[in-house]
Amino acid sequence: ALRTAPLRARAEIDLAAVRANARTLRALAPDAALMAVVKADGYGHGALPCARAAVEAGATWLGTATPEEALALRADAGLPADVRIMCWLWTPGGPWREAVEAGLDVSVSGMWALREVTAAARLAGRPARVHLKADTGLGRGGCQPGADWAELVGEALRAERAGQVRVTGLWSHFARADEPGHPSIAAQLTRFREMVAYAEQRGVRPEVRHIANSPATLTLPESHFDLVRPGIALYGISPSPEVGTPADLGLRPAMTLSASLALVKHVPGGHGVSYGHHYVTPGDTTLGLVPLGYADGIPRHASSAGPVLVDGKWRTVAGRVAMDQFVVDLGGDEPEPGAQAVLFGPGDRGEPTAEDWAQAAGTIAYEIVTRIGTRVPRVYV
Ligand code: PLP
Repeated sequence: ALRTAPLRARAEIDLAAVRANARTLRALAPDAALMAVVKADGYGHGALPCARAAVEAGATWLGTATPEEALALRADAGLPADVRIMCWLWTPGGPWREAVEAGLDVSVSGMWALREVTAAARLAGRPARVHLKADTGLGRGGCQPGADWAELVGEALRAERAGQVRVTGLWSHFARADEPGHPSIAAQLTRFREMVAYAEQRGVRPEVRHIANSPATLTLPESHFDLVRPGIALYGISPSPEVGTPADLGLRPAMTLSASLALVKHVPGGHGVSYGHHYVTPGDTTLGLVPLGYADGIPRHASSAGPVLVDGKWRTVAGRVAMDQFVVDLGGDEPEPGAQAVLFGPGDRGEPTAEDWAQAAGTIAYEIVTRIGTRVPRVYV
């Protein structure tokens, strides 16, 4: 009975949109393999269903941050066994042996990680598939160019000759690819080519060299190399307004977040609304209660700002977003309790988009979709 009862709130995930976006990305990088990045539960859309959809549309690799995320994908019987799975965020003592035994591709940025993965490969009795990560200018993970890179490449080759490692990839990540034309992009590409050339001169024979995230996949063909690694675009969201709107880019947003109004009531003017009374009704009106709050990932920073479509009209969060609920001023309209409040979706039915919420909250659309919490059921359509 519970399953068929109307839902308090729901995040509808349009898997046909995920498939179409994956096909669009493949067409943009026809000579490169497609790695669908499905970390953080598929940016909030559900890692397994999105991974399957992307693979149906031609992705041959899946990417995650943590090894736990990658191992969960590998354990999914719905994914073909030959899909390659790569993860890149390791800490000392991580599940290297499980990763090697599961045939995952793992990222190595420095000597501690190379030592741990080599030891795990010895125990597992098979070589680890390793992608050496270069810091070409992001200034986050990755090995520094110069002496550090020389040491890492040299030790990886030694481990390869000993049968403990197979260097399957050379890779890096952009800092500002979402700002097309920014000079740091060309500088990173040059540095990447140099670091790859150095490793190849020393004898590394990678299967794939890769650096392109969504904005680079969309705007910079010379960054595609052997594999592209988009995340946000797979879910139909633009990496930044400067790169374009989803429609400009031929992408379709996959998530629609909506809730059923929990209450509709008349109040007089001068009525303080929600914690802190940051909104006071300007006159007689109706208020609608939307049963989603910051525990569900609705940003509290979008208080008095986030847009919601109710009965064909855009309304705005009235006052503070609370943990589980927020209020909208319905301006005298009287929808029935249970009426749909659409927070965001593709935008082509008059509803706001995740980008609108990002602007209302002073953040990026990535954060809006990724933080939608586990209390909100994902409904696959
Ligand atoms: N590659 C790496 C290493 C990442 O961390 C990410 C996500 O941040 C991606 C690719 C995908 O980036 P985007 O979602 O901008 O396509």
